[in-house]
Formats: sequence, structure tokens, C-alpha cells
Amino acid sequence: MSHPDVIVVGGGIGGLGAAFSLTRQGLGVRLLESAPAFGEVGAGIQLAPNCTRILDDYGLLEEAKSLGVVPDAMVMRDAVDGDELTRLDLRHLEQRYGYPYLVIHRSDLHGLLLRACERAGVELINDAQVTSYENTRAGARVTLASGETHEAGVVIAADGLHSVARGLLVDDEPVSSAYVAYRGTVPAEQPRVTSVDLGEVVVYVGPRCHFVHYGLRGGELLNQVAVFESPKALAGRDDWGTPDELDAAFADTCDFVRDGLPFMWRDKWWRMYDRNPIMQWVHGRIALLGDSAHPPLQYIAQGAIMAVEDGWVLGEHVARHRAEGGTVDWSAALAAYEAVRPEHCRRVLSTSRAWGELWHLDGPAREQRNALLRARDTYDYSFTDWLFGPTAVTPDQEPEMFTPIPLSSAPVGEAALAGGAA
Ligand SMILES: Cc1cc2nc3c(=O)[nH]c(=O)nc-3n(C[C@H](O)[C@H](O)[C@H](O)COP(=O)(O)OP(=O)(O)OC[C@H]3O[C@@H](n4cnc5c(N)ncnc54)[C@H](O)[C@@H]3O)c2cc1C
Repeated sequence: MSHPDVIVVGGGIGGLGAAFSLTRQGLGVRLLESAPAFGEVGAGIQLAPNCTRILDDYGLLEEAKSLGVVPDAMVMRDAVDGDELTRLDLRHLEQRYGYPYLVIHRSDLHGLLLRACERAGVELINDAQVTSYENTRAGARVTLASGETHEAGVVIAADGLHSVARGLLVDDEPVSSAYVAYRGTVPAEQPRVTSVDLGEVVVYVGPRCHFVHYGLRGGELLNQVAVFESPKALAGRDDWGTPDELDAAFADTCDFVRDGLPFMWRDKWWRMYDRNPIMQWVHGRIALLGDSAHPPLQYIAQGAIMAVEDGWVLGEHVARHRAEGGTVDWSAALAAYEAVRPEHCRRVLSTSRAWGELWHLDGPAREQRNALLRARDTYDYSFTDWLFGPTAVTPDQEPEMFTPIPLSSAPVGEAALAGGAA
């Protein structure tokens, strides 16, 4: 086999996004995926303007919009009494950042990126489990479980939470949060679906638990996510996160939340892990990308988005560090990538942990949180500008590069409640 310019390991959202971005720069890309077929498990995913801006640059936004839902509002409610605490007006938010907030089925986003890679000519290989990485004189090499080797000028490791490549840079393990997520989708014909406004992304925050719902596929499905702290995990047991714990965790929540639990898939659940942030992602010609570099807790819904941003930024630096004749100065391109992405992702990881703690408060702390959230102005974007503004390509670039809309132009008379990214 001839050597491609780039090998991408992992065909998740991060790997496919990077492969597409680098192919767009005229590079030959081979993507190695361990699974026998490409796909995504789970249901919905939220894409904030810092992702839809990139999808637009890739020429994929209209297709993404046609597959998903562009909601009108994001609402936070208290899970115990169901009262509204805060909201984001997503139409106004779209005006502010220039791009929509979109919710989409994971498999639809994954399929969209896969088709884009196929059209762009990415060489897609399944059943290719990478077991080791090494730098070579001319680039880097990976070895597969089969013993086969592949070489390229650079290897991008988008191999997820349990990344093999990460071991080249740091000796760490995933950090358990002791929280577990149940997911499920409800078909539109169910009365449950007609009882909600599919134009809203809603998160109910409660003591040691939260519940999220939003519409998918143009309103054909209601996506639900139920997340809670597992007493069995805290007790150090291996069998944690089971359905009996799901029911117990939500016993004191409002009727609407409890009525949603029978619709959750009960045969599988997702234990929530992240990792401590690391600031070094590049080892010679091997670079981490996506969850291999920065797996977050999902509370600010930026994990897949950060992965898409990584690939886009890398593509921008390939374009900037290309000599005449097309040769890429990989040392410079990877150094520029590493100069900008880890600090942003560090901030996302630590904010996600803090945001989760805020959501799950109990007792007087819960009352204080609710009072603060109720006092926030709906059109106060001071918590979202650093996230939803344009993705920085260099560390000195101000993230707030959009044209701000004066707050006085915000619709008035609506409940002056505040929002946050769910
Ligand atoms: C409940 C929940 C809700 C979430 N909600 C959101 C959200 O709303 N918005 C958002 O942006 N993010 C969200 N996330 C986070 C997001 O799902 C992840 O951050 C994102 O999918 C990571 O993508 P990735 O491609 O980096 O890694 P992965 O999706 O883990 O992909 C890694 C790929 O590499 C392959 N692979 C692994 N090891 C090897 C190997 N050795 N050789 C070859 N291939 C290999 C795997 O098979 C897989 O295909 C959520 C996560 C959870 C759990």
C-alpha cells in the first residue's frame, strides 16, 4: 500500500471531521477504524454556533439543518417543582453569533460526516484496530492488531476516551464521576411527545440528577436523557448504574420528569467519565484529537464540538504552513495546533465539571442557585461568548469576533430568566 499524507485513527465524529478537513486541504487521508462498520450509538447531540459555523464552512450546514431541529429556546427548570429557572432565546442567539443552535441525531451527524469523507476521497478502512504508534524518520507509523503497519507523514489519533495514543504523552486514566446517563427516544405519535414543545431544549436540574429532552428529525422523535449519581458507584461497587438506581434517583422529581422514565432504554447505560486536562497533545508526528485529548463530562454539550473544532483548526494550520509545491511543514502546523487548542479545551473540561456540580445541588445551595438563575437576564451572553464565538486559530485571537447585537435590541417583555448551555 502506498503511504498517504495523513493517517487518522478512529472514525467517530472527531476522526471523520478531521479527515474531511485535511482532505479539503488537498491531502491524501487514510482513516483506520477498529469497528467492523462505521456508526454511532446514542441518540441526540446538541451543536452550538461554534460548531454550526464550521459545518457551514464545510458546506454541510444546510444538510445538517434538514436532518435535525433548529429549536427556538433552551430552558432550564428545577427538576423537583418543574419551575422555570432560566432560558436562552435561540433565535436571538443565532443573530448574535451568526449561526444556529442545532439538535441532531448522532447517527445523522455521523452519517453526514461519513458521506462528506466518501465524497472527498478519504480512504476509509474498518476492522483496523491500532495497537501501537511510533515516530519514524519521515513521519509516523501505526501497527494494527493484525500485525499490519501503516505509515504517513503524520498520524492523528482520534481514538476516544480510552485512547492508546494518549499513553505516549501521559500516564493517566479516565476519571469516574459516579454519574450515569440513560438515553431514549419517543416516537411522535406517543402522547408524551404531544405534551411538550418540540421547539424547546429543556433541562431539568435536580439533586444529584438531571433530565434533558428535545426534538429530533424535524420533530419525528423526542430525545430524552436521564442522568444521576449512582450510590453503588460511590460505594465502590462494580455493578453500578442499573435501572433500579435510575428509578430511585428520580423518585422525588416532578411528575413530568418521572413520567419520562419508562421511555428510557433500560438495557444499556453510559457511565460518565472525563479525564484531567493535559496541555501537551503532540508527540513528534503523532497528535491527539477529540476525546483522546479532552474527554469532558457532557454538561455544557461541547465534547463532539471540540472534536470538530480540533479538526478545523488543524486544517487551517495545514493551509498556513504549506510550502510551494504543497509540502506541509508538519512541525510548524502541529505546534500551532497545540498552541491554541489545549487551553480552550482545558477551560471547557473544568467548566463542565463545575456546571455539573451546580446542576446537582440540594438543600439551601439549590435554593441559592435557583435564585441566581432566576435573576439572570435572558439576553446576557457573558457566559456563552467564549464558547459560541468563532473558534480561535491562534492563542492571541479574541474569541468575541462576531458583531455584537446591542442588548437594547433584545425582545422585551419576555420572562427575564437566564439560560445556559445544557
Ligand atoms: C450522554 C452524553 C451526551 C453528550 N452530549 C453531547 C452534546 O450534546 N454535544 C457535544 O458536542 N458532545 C456531547 N457529548 C460528547 C461527545 O459524544 C463526545 O465528546 C464525542 O462523540 C467524541 O468524539 P470522538 O470522535 O473524539 O471519540 P469517539 O466518539 O469515542 O470515537 C472514537 C472512535 O475511535 C475508534 N477507536 C477507538 N480505539 C481505536 C483503535 N485502537 N484503533 C482504531 N479505532 C479505534 C472507536 O471505535 C470510535 O469509532 C455527549 C456525551 C455523552 C456521553
